Amino acid sequence: MTMAGTAVGSVLRTRFGTIRGVLFDIDDTLVDLEYAMTTALREVSEHLLPGLDQTGWERFGRIFTHETTHYYDRYLTGELTFNDQRLLRGRAALGHFGVELADGEEAHRWLTAYSELQPAYVRAFEDVLPLLDVLDAAGIPYGAVSNNVHDYQRAKLDAAGLERVGRLVGTDTVGVAKPEPAIYLEGVRLLGTAPKETLYVGDNRLLDAQGSTAAGLVGVWLNRAGETAPGFEGHEVASLAQLLA
Ligand SMILES: [Mg+2]
Repeated sequence: MTMAGTAVGSVLRTRFGTIRGVLFDIDDTLVDLEYAMTTALREVSEHLLPGLDQTGWERFGRIFTHETTHYYDRYLTGELTFNDQRLLRGRAALGHFGVELADGEEAHRWLTAYSELQPAYVRAFEDVLPLLDVLDAAGIPYGAVSNNVHDYQRAKLDAAGLERVGRLVGTDTVGVAKPEPAIYLEGVRLLGTAPKETLYVGDNRLLDAQGSTAAGLVGVWLNRAGETAPGFEGHEVASLAQLLA
């Protein structure tokens, strides 16, 4: 007898059909980047905002992680460097609370402290290793496709204990970012599967679920926070474990 979620040879039965390979987004899908960002951000900014309460710090983190992603988009188009967008996001969060980071030494110090500290807080979500164990046991190839450069994401995966995610496509691998079909298809090529037999899962509804689906993969939105998305008719799970349920 076979059950949904159990492996049969090199195919895996999932909630969304039988698949032969799995590709993951990295940030806030495999690794809890939001935790790493907000924790490091607070540590390097606390001296600038003495007395800010917990609610204030949550607001501060939210501005940096969610409300200033347009700067990251400008990094992806080549308009800003990675550090530029980071600094602009930090300035936006600090500026919300009336703190101006002076150009030059002060900004450089803040940015350097953040850049050094943040990787130390990067960790995998609890549902990642159990799923990778299932995939390894079933002989299902997997990898990651990310909207950041390869080497930076390689180091991040390794630091989070995810060395086993060996196949990795970054924005500099084929020179395009999600939602360009070519970046997902490069991941598929590395797995040696067909797009329609390849699951792509990630936390960004547009870039992960819809973008990969448009490229011919089986896109799944990992909606860990339980956000509502009126009009979204694609596949959705609340945890990686639910892919197999
Ligand atoms: Mg993500």
